[in-house]
Amino acid sequence: MLEAAGIRATSQRLLVLDVLAAHRLPVSAQRVHAELHDRGENIGLTTVYRALSSMTEAGLLHVFIHAGEAVYRLCGTAGHHHLVCRVCGLVAERQEENVVDGFRAEEVYGVCAACESGQRSARATDPIDT
Ligand SMILES: [Zn+2]
Ligand SMILES: [Zn+2]
Repeated sequence: MLEAAGIRATSQRLLVLDVLAAHRLPVSAQRVHAELHDRGENIGLTTVYRALSSMTEAGLLHVFIHAGEAVYRLCGTAGHHHLVCRVCGLVAERQEENVVDGFRAEEVYGVCAACESGQRSARATDPIDT
């Protein structure tokens, strides 16, 4: 997957991808770092940041802002835009073009069905990542 995106599959990038693939919601660099640390991986936060930004530049990850911090998501096919829940941070991919008055939307922020119906998400009750 990394090589298809034109970047080298270093062990650090694979570790970071592994964490992202295990999450339904986008995760912050600090969270990725903390989980790798818990697994006993000796990887620095700076290395995690570098891996995330190089994979984002390669188009493999998409970055969102949730609760004031950058969170990363392993996205699927190219050429999609996103619906982002501003409450829990859930991201849904949409394939069809979303053009309004000649303006192509990349991210549409709103509230997902679960949050709308008042179900509190795990993310919303989690302590904020530190
Ligand atoms: Zn995406
Ligand atoms: Zn939500």
